[in-house]
Amino acid sequence: MTRSSASQAQPQAAPLPPPLLCVSIHDVAPATWDDCARLAAALREVADIPLSWLVVPRYHDRPADDAAMRAGLDAALARGDELVLHGLTHLDTEARAASLRQRFLRGVYTQREGEFAALSAAEARRRLALGLDWFRERGWTASGFVPPAWLMGEGAWEALGDFPFAYTTTFMHFHLLGGKGDAAMAASAAAAGSGDGAGGHIGAGASADNRLAARRSATPFGPALFAPSLVYAARNRSGRFLSPLAAGLAARWQAGAPLVRLSLHPPDVRHPRLLAHARRLVEQMVRTRHAVTKASCAAHYKPIYQPIYQPRPQNPPRQPGPQPPYGP
Ligand SMILES: [Zn+2]
Repeated sequence: MTRSSASQAQPQAAPLPPPLLCVSIHDVAPATWDDCARLAAALREVADIPLSWLVVPRYHDRPADDAAMRAGLDAALARGDELVLHGLTHLDTEARAASLRQRFLRGVYTQREGEFAALSAAEARRRLALGLDWFRERGWTASGFVPPAWLMGEGAWEALGDFPFAYTTTFMHFHLLGGKGDAAMAASAAAAGSGDGAGGHIGAGASADNRLAARRSATPFGPALFAPSLVYAARNRSGRFLSPLAAGLAARWQAGAPLVRLSLHPPDVRHPRLLAHARRLVEQMVRTRHAVTKASCAAHYKPIYQPIYQPRPQNPPRQPGPQPPYGP
């Protein structure tokens, strides 16, 4: 399907999902496991919701004993959580960018954590395959891929089309991909079909259709839902002060949105103000939203976006996509 025919196609009438909330924990690895587990426990004290764990197979390329993490993630899967592939090493080891903007984004802003920002398609393909093998060795499957620091260059977008991922996310968008996913995706699809969210379904009337249309984005990568992530900046004092304010404002601004994403990082748990803010946000949002994994979110939206489905990007970007405001 060409880009122009994709943009002319009309979505078929399908029942809209309830307003959704996806909460994810980034940078899950043996080195961060204790913080990740504390983060999940702290959230579950206020709302027993399914979580998406973004796992990095070789975090910072340091070998580590992953027994405790494996046991913890197996238990998470058993309770309905999802494991997502989040890069291979989480390190950007490619040559320095030529442009000042790219040098800033990759070197300063994300502190060279945007592993997939500048990879060739062949190298991106190799790392995705290694990551999926690593998942498979542990008996895990991944129906989604989230690039470290939400940065993906042209090569990574091209490589992504060769894998059966059902979705990927950037800072601004939730992208549905052409892949069928896997067993985890099928299970999520079944759950999406039978589930009835705490917030109830949006009606399929004109106003709901308009609301969805306003959020549908014509990105070069196929169908995507505009859903900027709420995120904290634990790295420095000003970030810790300002980011909860920004997240609170963004949450209010997105009050009527079909999907709200909250992305948490291991260091967040070490700062009581950030943790308290996240817990309060989740507690408030689950009153009106159905908390789901990202795989389940993709399963909810797949029937709605089916007519403009596009397995591979026709016009991949020349530069990495939308940038997070607070780094990885
Ligand atoms: Zn990350």
